[in-house]
Amino acid sequence: MATAIRLRPRLRCRERLSRFSSIRIGGAVEAVVSLSSSEVFGDVLDMYHRGEIPGPLAFVGRGSNILFPDAGLGGTLVRFEHGDGGSGSRWHPDGSVDVDAGLSLPALARDAARRGVTGFEFLSGIPGTVGGAAVMNAGAGSGQWSDLCESLVVATGSGGSDILLPQDLRYGYRTSALLEISAGDPSAPQRHIQEKSVVLSARLRGTLADPAECQAKLMSHLDYRRSTQPLDEPSLGSVFRNPSGGPPGYSAGRLIEECGMKGRSVGGVMVSPRHANFFVNTGGGKASEFLELLAIVAEAVLKQWGVILEPEVRVWNA
Ligand SMILES: Cc1cc2nc3c(=O)[nH]c(=O)nc-3n(C[C@H](O)[C@H](O)[C@H](O)COP(=O)(O)OP(=O)(O)OC[C@H]3O[C@@H](n4cnc5c(N)ncnc54)[C@H](O)[C@@H]3O)c2cc1C
Repeated sequence: MATAIRLRPRLRCRERLSRFSSIRIGGAVEAVVSLSSSEVFGDVLDMYHRGEIPGPLAFVGRGSNILFPDAGLGGTLVRFEHGDGGSGSRWHPDGSVDVDAGLSLPALARDAARRGVTGFEFLSGIPGTVGGAAVMNAGAGSGQWSDLCESLVVATGSGGSDILLPQDLRYGYRTSALLEISAGDPSAPQRHIQEKSVVLSARLRGTLADPAECQAKLMSHLDYRRSTQPLDEPSLGSVFRNPSGGPPGYSAGRLIEECGMKGRSVGGVMVSPRHANFFVNTGGGKASEFLELLAIVAEAVLKQWGVILEPEVRVWNA
């Protein structure tokens, strides 16, 4: 994406992973590289090949869907984090837009509404990036990433890139062909590159509309979230996917709530009293506590409803 200033990737050593996850959990990592634009992704590969940063490389956005391990990670966390060097998006008159992997979803949604392009409003309350949404097929209400996505630009190695189309991406409910590759077991960076799983940018398309209507839709999405979700506490959003089985119309949250699990906690991790499918870090929470609580909740739902809940959060191993 066009940026006003080409900022070099920023390198930091021996950082706490908890700083880079929205639930504030995770041990140390050897190195962290932050990219203010995916244009400088080639610089990261050069740094890796010159031995300036340790491998393996693990690729993340805002860490709003990742449970990092208490024991920490070896290698380098590569963060796509759009900075102040440019807008991170290039709009076209027909309602399509090219967006950088590190662009924040709420910023994109606000920009679309301001320009009178509808279809992006559901992204306004999802605190992740374009790259994370492209991998997770993020969605809310009746909208999901795959409704907007026309193509992705992915890294092929040595700073090169290729284009993936929706048929390559096999999007489904909170899943994509990229997900298993970019998952919680960061392996050699060459594999990510060879399998084209590192997202650099996306081409999205909305529909031209009245800006006031877009703004009203966006505000109603945000109001709904504020009234139902614990947005002022550290969390990873929905812990479990909504199940396909179980009583018709029951979400994972409702199944958990009706097991009486709201407020249940293990150490510093608690099932939110506000939304039963959110676990919040009440202070000093650990990944081990999160996983113990996850097992307790899944067991309770299985026992009461006969439904197997599957995690939506990405659990990374040390
Ligand atoms: C309060 C709250 C509310 C939420 N609400 C929703 C919701 O309504 N709907 C929803 O779908 N999600 C929701 N989430 C979860 C999360 O915000 C989304 O899954 C989001 O898309 C993740 O984006 P991210 O940038 O944080 O990705 P991360 O959490 O950093 O990464 C997620 C996965 O994508 C991979 N990844 C990230 N960037 C790249 C890249 N550039 N190239 C390759 N791989 C990459 C990572 O390796 C990881 O496997 C919520 C989370 C919170 C905390």
